[in-house]
Amino acid sequence: MIAIYCRISKDRKKQISIDAQTKKGIEYANSIGKEYKIYTDKGFSGTTSNRPSLIQLLKDIESKIITDVWIYDQSRLERSIEVKLFLFTKFKKFNISVHIFNTLLDVDVQTEGLMNILSIVNGMFVDLTKEKIVNAIQINAENGKVHALPPYGYNKDVNNKFQINTEEAEIIKEIFSLSLSGKGTNSIAEILTNRGVLTAYNKLNGTLTTTNRNNVLKQLKTINKKEIRWSGTTVLHIIKNPIYKGIRVFQGIDYKVPEIVSADYWQLVNDNLVRNRNNSGKKVTHNYKLKGFLTCSKCGRNYYGRTRVNKRDNAYICSSKRYKHLNCNNRGINIPFLESLTDYFINEKQYQYIIDNASYLIKETDNDVLEINTLKDKLIELENKRSNLLDFIADGIISKNDAKIKLQSINLLEEEIQSKIKFILNSENKTTYKNIISNIRIEFNYTYNVYCISYITSFNDKVLFTYVFDKMYKFIESYVSNNELIEYGSVNLNIIDVPNEYLINNRYFYKK
Ligand SMILES: [Zn+2]
Repeated sequence: MIAIYCRISKDRKKQISIDAQTKKGIEYANSIGKEYKIYTDKGFSGTTSNRPSLIQLLKDIESKIITDVWIYDQSRLERSIEVKLFLFTKFKKFNISVHIFNTLLDVDVQTEGLMNILSIVNGMFVDLTKEKIVNAIQINAENGKVHALPPYGYNKDVNNKFQINTEEAEIIKEIFSLSLSGKGTNSIAEILTNRGVLTAYNKLNGTLTTTNRNNVLKQLKTINKKEIRWSGTTVLHIIKNPIYKGIRVFQGIDYKVPEIVSADYWQLVNDNLVRNRNNSGKKVTHNYKLKGFLTCSKCGRNYYGRTRVNKRDNAYICSSKRYKHLNCNNRGINIPFLESLTDYFINEKQYQYIIDNASYLIKETDNDVLEINTLKDKLIELENKRSNLLDFIADGIISKNDAKIKLQSINLLEEEIQSKIKFILNSENKTTYKNIISNIRIEFNYTYNVYCISYITSFNDKVLFTYVFDKMYKFIESYVSNNELIEYGSVNLNIIDVPNEYLINNRYFYKK
């Protein structure tokens, strides 16, 4: 039996009455000599929760009542790519023939195409596992079930549904009440930590690997779940999460769950949060040029800029200093000093000196050729993605608006790669912090009472250029070395010495 699925489209230009759609569908069913069943969703909303007939259709497909599906045009089915993929994988699984207006659709090609789009969007390869996950997540969300770990304050019951965890719910209420009383998110986190309140992660075993998104190198960091403390960010996410007023948003669709605070109270606390922030009096007066480039060599966290009334105390400091229990004790470093060192590094083309002198370490010519080839391959890949995307727009698989965002990201990536190639080819280009320095590591060595400041260049992340300064930022020595196992303490590095005149005769390296 063929299902005639009719729906009013949100798009005004595409509005065709249900009657007209039904009529066309019946004509088509008759023309191919099949019995039909009509499914009509009159809601304007594209969410599946508001489309009982679509859900019924899926059920009928599962019970094998339906072998074919007819729709007036692609937009009748679904706009969200994820849900569309969900529907097509279902069609594929049950061997459903999909007819659009007068043509039979190739479900395999469609599914493949949607997966390609998803892989562009997610930047990851979409395989069958993904198919299964999309499937499971969607079904779970529709039934108000929990996928993976439930948010703090909730448990899964035997049916995998959300259930309030009374103990954690008290903490949630306390967080809301503290915030309303004017406490900042960091202070709330500290209060909970000091009292020994367990985080959601503390109750689990194993480790958690995250990306350091604030750092240009995007390094991975692995931590033991038992050691994860309350942070201001976690508290902020809790306050902003609508789940605590009983609304779980999944793929843009709202699902009801038991509430921990009332919707009015939730709103009050959230409005107050914005007020708190506006009254915090913090004004950014310094443009931290090296933000995102600095890594603590002791604990791997980011360094961030901190300004004081007395400008001499302006410093980049390890973000571990924000929390007493995390403090790695690495020293802060004077901002004017570090920034002028960086300027010098770039303006005087110190990096070129590094590359030239480190050639035996990095075999630069081979690497350049290899890198350019890899980059060119990436360009071809992007071009393919773009032409696929254009096909999808033409076929109506993806809306112009959705495609626009993806095209923009493709264009951005392409620009980035082009500029990298340009750089390698030594063409005329402006030297910026970003394309010269990919990371700076800072360490204060207590044994020798010296600062070691190392630059990793974006030419080759295996080359490290290290400057050693005394406590007054007076220049001592510099080294070029391979970016592995550098023992600053034993200043016995297997490295090439950079003649000091490159550095010494510069006022930047002396601080009165
Ligand atoms: Zn640190």
